Amino acid sequence: MGSITASVSRRGRSVMAAFVAVTLAGAASAETTVLRHFTLIDGTGRAPVADQALVMTDGKLNWVGPDVRLKVPAGATVENLAGKFVMPGLIDNHVHLGLVNGITQDLKYQTPENIEKQLHLYAAYGVTSVQTLGTEKDIIFPIRDAERGTRPDKARVFTVGRGVVFKGSYGGVPGLEQSVATPEEARQMVDAQAAKNVDAIKLWVDDEFGALSERMPPAISAAVIDEAHKDGKKAIAHIFYYDNAAELTREGVNGFAHEVRDRLVDAALLGQMKAKGVWQMAATLSREASFTYATLPFLDDPFFARGVTPEVLAELASPERAKKLSSGPNFPKYAPTLRNAMQNFAAEAKAGVRYGMGTDSGPTARFPGYFAHWELELMVKAGVTPLQALTAATGSNAEFLGARDIGTVQPGKWADLLVLDKNPVADIRNTRTIHEVFIAGRKMPTIWQICTGRSVEACGAAK
Ligand SMILES: [Zn+2]
Repeated sequence: MGSITASVSRRGRSVMAAFVAVTLAGAASAETTVLRHFTLIDGTGRAPVADQALVMTDGKLNWVGPDVRLKVPAGATVENLAGKFVMPGLIDNHVHLGLVNGITQDLKYQTPENIEKQLHLYAAYGVTSVQTLGTEKDIIFPIRDAERGTRPDKARVFTVGRGVVFKGSYGGVPGLEQSVATPEEARQMVDAQAAKNVDAIKLWVDDEFGALSERMPPAISAAVIDEAHKDGKKAIAHIFYYDNAAELTREGVNGFAHEVRDRLVDAALLGQMKAKGVWQMAATLSREASFTYATLPFLDDPFFARGVTPEVLAELASPERAKKLSSGPNFPKYAPTLRNAMQNFAAEAKAGVRYGMGTDSGPTARFPGYFAHWELELMVKAGVTPLQALTAATGSNAEFLGARDIGTVQPGKWADLLVLDKNPVADIRNTRTIHEVFIAGRKMPTIWQICTGRSVEACGAAK
């Protein structure tokens, strides 16, 4: 059949595809799985609905509804999920890939193998898609492109390619050429990224607590945003300061990759963000929280420990590391920074600013997958409901990405699913009770079935 399909003309192919789809419906060669009797959290923001069922064929959802109305297709594999909760796979809209080996950060570790290893880890934690924000070599494009439209065996990738850094200011990573000095250079860089078919454009506007003498000036950020829009791309900004957030909002930025953290936001900024449709795309509360600890508070948590090697655990627990971190010049600044971020996130949500979920995991000691669950917990702690946090991380994140085939449990979407033992709407920490993860209808090994750097028994019984 492959050879027949391959030999038909492009014009004939859609006719042939329709014919193949019709003849395969119900036939043994289509892979059909039915999940039954679960409580559905569909990612649209709708409240959980009991005793639902779904049918997925060749990785896509083709029916979702009450179990009483289910018609089980002939030849389907049927799984009874009574007592379980099914939701869309999580989407983390702010990550960086392949920056570290353990907790040692260096661009030399950015290899296809290391990136793919991290994408498998994201999948194990139920994070079925990630958007990587601006520190990637061009090796990210073939990895992403190989997944598009297919059934990947790891988390899906969206990427901005290289983000735009103003020369001498904060942003980017050492070893990756990405700084610009003039509006013309900025436009050229945006066009070069767009030519690589990036999913969005990233820019940094920050000065690392004033340690650097400059931030990206408005003439350049305005050029980046304008050129991104001319190229049909959204512009996503790293921000720290209120003033920059206000300026970028005036310039038409589409989303913020962090919260305003130097002070509390006010009605004026909230009103402008709403009026201009600016999203708080990622609040990165887990990033800010992680900096407040000299020793991270979850080293004994098996949900975390399964994802890292014993060597990394030992390094994270060492008194030397704690001493070094707590004596850093910025250490006292992190607690108030986190407080501002949490209050500003809550204020935005309350004001009706659109928001997604993103962690900024990937740089040293900011852990793929685990941080998404911590982020959800912190979003709820800040002031949104568990259902709102889950919707941000699924349907809303897909909407920001413009990814119409993921993010909700609805017919026509990819079957990217997270199956949980306990209700995450009752307690957001129940997102950690991962029973199964599906990407495009295929089961991924979950974090409860792996044990990084050790034999799986070393982490205790696999679920
Ligand atoms: Zn980042």
